[in-house]
Amino acid sequence: MSDPVLCGVILHPAGHTLSPLLHETAYSALGLDAHYEVFDVPPRDFARELEALRARRVRQLSVSLPHKEAALALSERVSPAARAIGACNTLTLEDGAWRADNTDWIGVQRTLEPLGPWQGRRATVLGAGGAARAVVYALHALGLEVRVLNRTAERAEQLTAELGGRVGGLDEPYDLLVNATSLGMAPNVEQTPAPADALRPGSTVFDLVYRPLETRLLREARAAGCPTQDGLDMLVHQAVEQLRLWSGQTADAALLRRTADAALAAEAR
Ligand code: NAP
Repeated sequence: MSDPVLCGVILHPAGHTLSPLLHETAYSALGLDAHYEVFDVPPRDFARELEALRARRVRQLSVSLPHKEAALALSERVSPAARAIGACNTLTLEDGAWRADNTDWIGVQRTLEPLGPWQGRRATVLGAGGAARAVVYALHALGLEVRVLNRTAERAEQLTAELGGRVGGLDEPYDLLVNATSLGMAPNVEQTPAPADALRPGSTVFDLVYRPLETRLLREARAAGCPTQDGLDMLVHQAVEQLRLWSGQTADAALLRRTADAALAAEAR
């Protein structure tokens, strides 16, 4: 019998990451022999740890905050999407060299596709960090017109200069509003990135935050008559795509969603 494939998630601080649960559930359902670990690595140790993991033949890594840019910079091969987005959430050891991919944008695309059609519609994205960059990349792939609004205006300008779209405001009409800031995330659940009076009935509101699943933004959006989408499907779909890149197999997204829902419900109790 061959040894299990060694893989894991590299991040700091480790907190309550759902990645091991999602990947282990998928490996087990697909009958794959893999061992998925959590590597809690502070930024100053990232480069050294990556070398140590290469030497240990850890071949597949999910990359989370704060390492997504450093992982890109240290990779020998980079996919076009990871290069354009400027962040890597997936590392694969190929012939001894790290290949950087980004599956966050695929997570966004697969989450939104069933809620479309989106071609020619208008999106406003709140935030200009790494997640917002993956969102903007996905929205362009779906054919939306993109405006970006961020607390630090220069970051929104830089994002749109690099990825397209333009800087905009909440006073402009939109068909899709995306929260790609950390506002509303536990424990700051009373924060929201958009005032209730900026929510437009009939426009879809997608919040990347998934702790809690129903953020204040989504609660107020529902009350305003907006279709809503939480952040957990994005997390599930980016993991499904990681597994496809690594094993060529397609994990059952609905099974992973049910598993993650149960874990978040248990956490909340
Ligand atoms: P990041 O690079 O640190 O960016 C954070 C963003 O939030 C920036 O635009 C920042 O604005 C904004 N922000 C933070 N505090 C704020 C405040 N008090 N008022 C206004 N804006 C504020 O983080 P990230 O990786 O992009 O992640 C952003 C969010 O997406 C997080 O909640 C993360 O959990 C979520 N996420 C979800 C998934 C998923 O699969 N569902 C995947 C990735 C990320 P400034 O530029 O002005 O600082």
